[in-house]
Amino acid sequence: MKLKFDYTNMLADSVGSIHGIALSEIKKDKDSIFGCYKKIMDYGNKDGYIFTTLPYMQDKDMNSIMQYGNAIRKKSDTFVVCGIGGSALGALSITHAMRHLNHNTLSKNRRGVPRIYIEDNIDPEKIKALLDVANIKSTYFNFITKSGETAETLAQFLVIYGILKRALGKEEAKKHIIITTTTGVGALYKIAKQEGFKIFSIPSNLPGRFSVFSSVGLLPLAVAGIDIKLLFSGAQDMDKACRDSDIYKNPALMSAYLHYKASQTGKNISVMMPYAESLKIMADFYAQSWGESLGKELDLDGNKVNIGQTPVKALGATDQHSQVQLYVEGPFDKVVTFIGVEKFREEIVIPSGEFEQFEYLEGQRLGKLLDIEKKAAAYALTKAGRLNFSIMLPYVNEDTIGELMTYFMYQTVYMAAFLNINPFDQPGVEGSKRAANALLGRSGHERLAKDIEAKDKKLLVIEGEEICITERHCVGKKTIRDIDVKGKRVLLRCDFNVPVKDGEISDYARIQNSLPTIRYLVQNGAKVIICSHFSRPKNGFEEKYSLKIMADSIRGEFGRFYFCKDPISNEALERADKLQNGQILFLENLRFYKEEEKNDEEFCKKLAAMCDIYVNDAFGVSHREHASVFGITKFVDESVAGLLLLKEAQFLGDKLGDELERPFVAIVGGSKVSDKIGVLENLVNKADSVIIGGGMAFTFLKAMGYRVGKSLVEEDKLGVAKSVIDLAKERGAKLLLPADVRVAGEFPKPIEAIVEYDNVSVSEIADDKMGLDIGRVSESIFCDEIKKAKTILWNGPMGVFENPVFARGTLAVAEAVAEATDGGAVSIVGGGDSAAAAVQCGVDKRITHISTGGGASLEFLEGKELPGIAALSDKK
Ligand code: ADP
Ligand code: MG
Repeated sequence: MKLKFDYTNMLADSVGSIHGIALSEIKKDKDSIFGCYKKIMDYGNKDGYIFTTLPYMQDKDMNSIMQYGNAIRKKSDTFVVCGIGGSALGALSITHAMRHLNHNTLSKNRRGVPRIYIEDNIDPEKIKALLDVANIKSTYFNFITKSGETAETLAQFLVIYGILKRALGKEEAKKHIIITTTTGVGALYKIAKQEGFKIFSIPSNLPGRFSVFSSVGLLPLAVAGIDIKLLFSGAQDMDKACRDSDIYKNPALMSAYLHYKASQTGKNISVMMPYAESLKIMADFYAQSWGESLGKELDLDGNKVNIGQTPVKALGATDQHSQVQLYVEGPFDKVVTFIGVEKFREEIVIPSGEFEQFEYLEGQRLGKLLDIEKKAAAYALTKAGRLNFSIMLPYVNEDTIGELMTYFMYQTVYMAAFLNINPFDQPGVEGSKRAANALLGRSGHERLAKDIEAKDKKLLVIEGEEICITERHCVGKKTIRDIDVKGKRVLLRCDFNVPVKDGEISDYARIQNSLPTIRYLVQNGAKVIICSHFSRPKNGFEEKYSLKIMADSIRGEFGRFYFCKDPISNEALERADKLQNGQILFLENLRFYKEEEKNDEEFCKKLAAMCDIYVNDAFGVSHREHASVFGITKFVDESVAGLLLLKEAQFLGDKLGDELERPFVAIVGGSKVSDKIGVLENLVNKADSVIIGGGMAFTFLKAMGYRVGKSLVEEDKLGVAKSVIDLAKERGAKLLLPADVRVAGEFPKPIEAIVEYDNVSVSEIADDKMGLDIGRVSESIFCDEIKKAKTILWNGPMGVFENPVFARGTLAVAEAVAEATDGGAVSIVGGGDSAAAAVQCGVDKRITHISTGGGASLEFLEGKELPGIAALSDKK
């Protein structure tokens, strides 16, 4: 036996008699110790613990595994073990201990053996991360499940077999799969037989956590080039020591006894703390063995005991700076096991002669320093009366690892004997397995599923604020959650400016997004007065700009609901005053009054007179200094943010803030040239590329000297367009304008009318033609640029997308944005028409965030607070 065990600091002589165990007690307990020893030996001899006999395996049994492992090692670049718990931890802890600590990132030559991945979880991100680095053609997968029924492993199998089949074809795919399971048992065995996968058998009556020396661990170890004979020789040495009836010679029996005694005085936690990176996962192996074997409800006589020590994994010296404070001064509820290594495989000497102040460090070896740290921690614990002991490995190799793991397993079964429980079952885990099956809807589990559902009542749930406000954006503004709205008249400014076609709402997104705030106010007993604008009426009422259809679209969800045709009238005021808690008054389009956009003071006062509290939830207009967004706040005591406003501000603040990911491509289009041209300067400053399409492109083309025929041009913005072009040059930002366009004789009427068109270069636009979409060449240039992006902001369609003939440019751009997003970019689409275009192109689900604000999201980029947000009351 090469390992050294020092139990001194478990003894009363060392840590004091309150917590320490007196040597005399060992003598006193002699008989019961021997009884436990005998129980384990008898049981082993009768039923056989296979874990103790496995290292004595016949060569012939080992050879088939070794040969197969060698073959895989030669032909594969990556070997993946898929399993969970005991099916994975053995191979994981040994390969981690034995291979270079950055094994998988070493060059092939230095590695010598395949990259080894042990996938012991079903986290989709982890599996995706593996598939991103593994070349599937030279990757082999070993699925390990003893029962052949472990849902996690089966799920991995289905996912990976599917990928393999798609990549390699079915026949080739089969050769990349190896199944390790119990012969003749379980679903995976059947499937493996039927598909003709290579199968390795797991002996029955061998729980996963004791299976490391069976085919479960051996195949991966063989692939990884581990010296299994040496591993077994270490295991055999320790096996002999652990069969010694003399407790002073049997380290596992001694350790179990001392742990047991400690547990009787309330030491319910067992910390495993190796001082070597290579042994880090050994602590996991230990924790699984100790936790799963010993944590039990019933003892062997059927008494309810609810017993077991909680294993804790720690790593020296790292956790010395995060945990040891607790171990030294916290409750007396732990036993700490230190594991040290005398000689590291690599050694680094601290250089000397440089700084006088660090003389005490100079010339020291890092390995020695680590050992000093361990001794220091042990000293501190001992001084504080804390039980601890130490295991020393002369070095880390197969031999000592074989010893250590065998010691862990024996220590566990001896502890089970002291506790009088069965270490080989895991009834608690089976319960959760069955529950998972029930939740997955597996047949035969229906009753359990019902029971789980009944238990799923939520009685005490604490959830974080749905929206957390980032500094800089919405900084410290009050929200509807910060105030009491009960019984108050609340004027809620929404953005119900939705696309309407033939008198019907064609996209409900903005309305849908406004509902959480409305519901919140209603449920909290506010008297809710909803106001909004819609489109751009000239002055006075016009039927086609009425908000009636928007009001009707939500009326059904709420109780009492009134609509008022004149938003600024005595009727509206009286209605507002008469509202009961939880009732809604919906006001007609505010823009029927030109004072709204002018931010007229009298108008603001009239709006304010209707309410006690003002809520802004209209992100899409928060960049405007309009009466119902901005001016009103001066005349209301309390002005707060709604939930949608917060959500938008938070998302955009995060994604478009100073740390946005580059390349950042901004795509601007649509018809409202004068609306957007203002932010273009800012975009050119911030984006790596700015793509300009849609109606506004023609103002730019004209500014550059092209003839644009009857296309949409805003003559008074030609100067701005020129300065944007100059600025882009100066800043080195790419400014992409269409190289060709689709033109027609006139604007389609009705909008969906099929019209003749030409695809012409921008230098060939005839005087009687009108540009209605970008052209084919432009599409491909724009799309190439978009696909390179990591952050994309898109506002404004590329053409008159309402007409199928002129929707192509928009469609191409939409697809490119979606593709970039699939590849990991963050995409933000803002603007009512742009959002509708994304839906029409069928890409809306693939966009990261569809913002309810077009212009607002563009202005957000400037980093300034939007006026409608700035005007809200500050949080105290
Ligand atoms: P958003 O609502 O996304 O901010 P806009 O309202 O600015 O977008 O622009 C959308 C409108 O622009 C659409 O109705 C579309 O028909 C129009 N449009 C796009 N390209 C042109 C063009 N070349 N000429 C005229 N109108 C255009
Ligand atoms: Mg629009």
